[in-house]
Order: sequence, then structure tokens, then C-alpha cells
Amino acid sequence: MTRLVNRTHDAKARSFIESANQPGGDFPIQNLPFGVFRRRARQEAERIGVAIGDQVVDLRRAAGHGLFSALGSEIQSALAAPVLNPLVALGRPAAAAVRERLFDLLAQDGPSRNNVVDCLAPAESVELLLPVAIGDYTDFYASIHHATNVGSMFRPENPLLPNYKYVPIGYHGRASSIVVSGTPIKRPMGQIKGDVAADPVFGPSRSLDYESEIGGYLVGGNRQGTEIPIAEAESRIFGLCLLNDWSARDIQAWEYQPLGPFLAKNFATSVSPWVVTMEALAPFRVPGFDRPAGDPAPLPYLFAETDRRAGGIAVATEVYLSSARMRAEGMAPWRVSHASLASMYWTMAQLVTHHASNGCNLRPGDLIGSGTISGPEKENRGCLLELTWRGAEPVTLPTGEIRRFLADGDEVILRAACERAGAARIGFGECRGVVEPA
Ligand code: CA
Repeated sequence: MTRLVNRTHDAKARSFIESANQPGGDFPIQNLPFGVFRRRARQEAERIGVAIGDQVVDLRRAAGHGLFSALGSEIQSALAAPVLNPLVALGRPAAAAVRERLFDLLAQDGPSRNNVVDCLAPAESVELLLPVAIGDYTDFYASIHHATNVGSMFRPENPLLPNYKYVPIGYHGRASSIVVSGTPIKRPMGQIKGDVAADPVFGPSRSLDYESEIGGYLVGGNRQGTEIPIAEAESRIFGLCLLNDWSARDIQAWEYQPLGPFLAKNFATSVSPWVVTMEALAPFRVPGFDRPAGDPAPLPYLFAETDRRAGGIAVATEVYLSSARMRAEGMAPWRVSHASLASMYWTMAQLVTHHASNGCNLRPGDLIGSGTISGPEKENRGCLLELTWRGAEPVTLPTGEIRRFLADGDEVILRAACERAGAARIGFGECRGVVEPA
């Protein structure tokens, strides 16, 4: 897991697609995230695409033109699939080979330009779909800031439970209700019990929330009964996306003991359409969480020197909110908070290794969530539960509207990007969802 930086990371590289060379864009030639799309105007099957500037490269068509013939038949047939799973299953070297070839094809002086141009579709003309057929979804709780904030609301005397610094806490989520960005989210119904009420009632959630997370699509590959050693875990992560773990706090508060989240979480999870590969993120690796003196060292199965040195990823995350009234009045979305994936207590590799440490088999296309990404300051709180301290400190939108939790018509927009001097900016695009009435 050394920082594998190669010519595809050269910050000076330019594409013949001019929109990819605009400073501040999400999709320069150094990014090349994978997704699945179909053209709105045509009756055609879903296909794999790669984002570059304001265009999408149709990889199925490109493979048909023989542009990937040097990479072998396995990769070519994976590129013709309607989902990313076959490509994910081939592992990171295959994705890296496709990335290198695409980098050359899309470069300013690239070969076969006419054939490549024939495979481009303007991003505004396509519908982006769920990129992966997700078999299993697991959500973690890797931000110690989030865990401490939430814990102190419910257990002021004992915010962080004694297992937190030993065990990467997680729960099994539901794959069937994962939707791609742009899908409206219906406010869930559920059992709700007020703090002073004697009995619960069944009705629409009054405390609907978002959670700003980063998701990771897994290569999988460990047979049931076998582990994924920490030194190999990085090779089992295909790429990352934005993830919004919609959460109904009132349903959660009543149902979560003794077995954890259930209907408060599984009605919907939104993901961004573009999967940013681990290769694209190579220039942004940082050390894992710097445990303060007094914290226990990770148990040996969760520790590798490479992971300590470069297991973190400096992804800057942002949450924006836009109410129906803000949109009607033409206002831009309002930035609610910002944080960094680098501040997580556990690295993505540690989450993968822990998940498989009991012999649980992980499969290609499984999705793991990081857990709400929060930082030490109030402006770093990645959900409204934390930001408004369970409603006690409401936020005020630019219209003067007050929010403790989400209102019908509110749109939540997650964004993220990696930026540092000497490297091209790698953006994640957006993960959007509008709340619809119950
Ligand atoms: Ca979560």
C-alpha cells in the first residue's frame, strides 16, 4: 500500500476534452471514475461509463471499437456488462489497466481520437444509474467525534462505550433500499415514543436526518471461513463513493435497544453515481488516525505499519441543504457542515479486515459505509442530530427557516473532493436526495 503514483496522476496532464481541464472541476483526466448510465433519448441498455469533464465515455461502445483489445477478453467483456460487478471482481489491477488505457486515449495527444469521440455522451444527456448490483451493505461508525457526540447526548456520563477503541463498530444494513443520487426519499413511517409519553404511536418520522458518509465498494474474494489480513485489505477495496445514510432519529431512539438500528435506517440509503477508484486517490493517502497517548494500540490483526503510515485518505466532505423555498427563490444550496475522512478513528482497510476477521465472506460489489464523518468542531458535524444537538440548537437557513431535522421538500446534497498542492483535484460529484412527504 505504498503511494502508487504513476503517470496517470501527473497534475500537468491535459485532455483533448477541454471541460476536463477547467480548474476546480470534479472530473479531470487524473480522476476517471466509473459509473453506469443510459442515454435519455435512446432506447438502449445500461452501460458502464467513465466521467471526464462534462462528458461520459461509453466503455461498452469503446470496447466494441477495439479500444481495449490489448487488455484481454476478460476485461473487455467486463466493460460490456450493465453493472460494474464483473470489473470489480477482476480486482484493482484490472481497473488500473483500464484507467491507464483511458488516460492515454483521452490525453491531449491521444491515439484513435475519432473512435474515442464517437464514444462520448454529454453528461447532461444521460441518466446515471446505481453503478453496482450491491449484494450486502454494512455500515460502520468509524468517526470517534461522531460516536462521542451522539454518545454524550444519550449517556452524558459515559459517552464512549469501552469497546469503541478496540472494535470497529458496525451493523448490517439493507442493500435493497440503496438508491442512486437524485432518487426522492419518502419520509418513513414508524413507531415513535415521545420522551414523556407512556406509549408509542405509529406515524411519520418527525426527526428525519441525513448522515454524511463515504462508501467503499469491495472486491471481496475471501472464501467463507477465511480472513483478509490487514496487509491485503487495501487490495480488496475497489473505490469510494458518497453515501447518505438517511436516519429517522425518533424511530431509532425507540427501537435501537437491544439489537441496534433497524427500520430507522433501512428505508433508504443514497449513493453517488460515480465510483472514484483507489488508484485515483493514491496521491491523497495520509497516516491513519493518530491515537493520543493513553488510547490502546489496535489489536495485532488490525495493525500494519503500512496502514498506520498511509491508511487514511484525505477526502474533504461537505453537506449542503436546500429547502423548497430556497429553490423557489433561486438561492444556492447552503453549506451546513464540512469534515474530512482523514479524521476517522479506523481506516477503510481496518474496517475490511475486521469485517472478515471471523471468516465472513465478502463478495465483489459489497458496500461498506464509513459511518457519519464528523470532526472536532461544531462546523464538522456530519448529521443534524449532532449539529442541532438533538434539536436543542436549531440551524437557520438563509431564508430564515429553522431546522432541527429535515422538512418535506428539503434537498440534502453531499459533495467531496481531494485537493493538495502538486496533485490534480479529484472530485466525487454529488449525492442528492429530496425529502418527500410520508
Ligand atoms: Ca450511518
